[in-house]
Amino acid sequence: MRKPKRVLILSGTGEGLKLAARASKLEGLQPIASLAGRTRQSVNCSIPTRIGGFGGVSGLREYLREQQIDLLIDATHPFAAQMSWNAAIAAGQENIPHVMLLRPAWEQTVGDRWVEVQNHEAAAGVLPGLAPRLFLTIGRQELASYAHLSHLWFLMRIVTPPPGDMRLPPGIVLAQRGPFSLAEERSLLRRYDIGAIVTKNSGGDATYPKIMAAREFGLPVVMIQRPSLPQTERIGDIDSALCWLRGYL
Ligand code: NAP
Repeated sequence: MRKPKRVLILSGTGEGLKLAARASKLEGLQPIASLAGRTRQSVNCSIPTRIGGFGGVSGLREYLREQQIDLLIDATHPFAAQMSWNAAIAAGQENIPHVMLLRPAWEQTVGDRWVEVQNHEAAAGVLPGLAPRLFLTIGRQELASYAHLSHLWFLMRIVTPPPGDMRLPPGIVLAQRGPFSLAEERSLLRRYDIGAIVTKNSGGDATYPKIMAAREFGLPVVMIQRPSLPQTERIGDIDSALCWLRGYL
């Protein structure tokens, strides 16, 4: 009998864990999911899962060798650029076939009022003068970039509450995990009298309704562009990732 192929799936998005679950049903394949451990994520107990960093490129190379990984899928969040670069370098050096599962970015459409910026510092720079009450949906790690904006008010929606000692901008924190419906987003914008939204261009359907609600209300959206990612083979959805995996069985 042929040895099953071991595939490491770097996760961090809903797609990564869904892919791992579906890959585990393919005969001849043993998926292992890897999470950074940034949020309280429900882990599917039927899939071997490891949590936490590898220790840079060298730590990842060691892990790939020790665990006899045959294939690597990078299904991390589009803004988890460090992990993606480490994966591309380590897979290249260990000669392991590697692909990125990357959701397409959102694109501006008729009625959208986007202010596109390169990073959080630039986003914070455009906020004074845009609106006094803002909806900040950028995750937890970068909230401190807005903490100096003491004359503005922020509704901060994050998955995991921030630690008590984290510097936050003025406003309130809503700890909630998506997806969110269009009706929920409309009602949130109305309830908190929001004048503009700040978001990363994460892509995908789960958090897109906030962009639709902003369009309906004619609100500006400060859209943080994606970081630079390695130029490796890319696929856009779970079915294509499964097809890529089948090619190695
Ligand atoms: P990052 O800057 O790419 O990663 C920093 C380090 O975290 C990596 O070098 C690696 O540590 C570890 N890491 C990241 N993803 C991992 C995974 N799947 N398995 C094991 N280790 C992992 O990413 P980040 O700091 O987590 O986040 C950067 C941006 O992405 C933020 O805007 C965040 O909101 C967004 N984001 C990230 C995730 C996520 O799961 N990482 C999920 C949603 C959103 P070592 O170098 O020690 O291996």
